[in-house]
Amino acid sequence: MRILISNDDGYLAPGIIALAEALVPIADVVVVAPDNNRSGCSNSLTLDRPLSLLRAANGFYFVNGTPSDCVHIALTALLDYTPDLVVSGINQGQNMGDDTLYSGTVAAATEGFLFGIPAIAFSQVEHGWEQLDAAAKMARDIVERCFDILEKPYLLNVNIPNRAYGNLKPIMSTRLGKRHQSEPVIRSKDPQGREIFWIGPAGAAKDAGAGTDFYATMMGHVSITPLQIDLTHAAQLDFLRRILE
Ligand code: MN
Repeated sequence: MRILISNDDGYLAPGIIALAEALVPIADVVVVAPDNNRSGCSNSLTLDRPLSLLRAANGFYFVNGTPSDCVHIALTALLDYTPDLVVSGINQGQNMGDDTLYSGTVAAATEGFLFGIPAIAFSQVEHGWEQLDAAAKMARDIVERCFDILEKPYLLNVNIPNRAYGNLKPIMSTRLGKRHQSEPVIRSKDPQGREIFWIGPAGAAKDAGAGTDFYATMMGHVSITPLQIDLTHAAQLDFLRRILE
């Protein structure tokens, strides 16, 4: 199997190093990731300047762009083959519910999916890397168990509780939960006295009921949500057609 790996925390992040090390025994692995942390950049592509692809001493490639840039360049310029799978992560922090719209981790996987390649995004719930080895081992389990079971291409969003491997509860298939609206921006002043803003934290879980990714991980389970990209609201489309046509 040939696997392309990316992330949004940057090519030096412990999460991508652990993920690559976990997958090397089962696949030919190529890593192409942003040169620094681009968390929260969603599916953005860099269109206003050229990009560079450089290679680090450990063999990882890095790009001065976004996760989507990295996968896009890997698939259209670097690799002379189509990988069997694109994986992203392991992100430092959960990507559940509405997070998936902002996440660069999910975006890197989505870019692969949009090129017709199966893709999996991995995130570890809560910050801190204490149980990163457990998450990496679980990521490999999921690649091995899930690679062939779904119609291809698929796009999976995986969230792994921050626990030792032996304390992880079994995988649950979930739907995305929902969050309350985000916390307000944090106001401050720059050294010249001008007002500046830091984007505040995401809202707390609003729909964390049974069946959601929030619920599964709260109970200690590994959560897998199959995603799709079509945002069409089918019921409202039917309504608009009836009213307007
Ligand atoms: Mn991130």
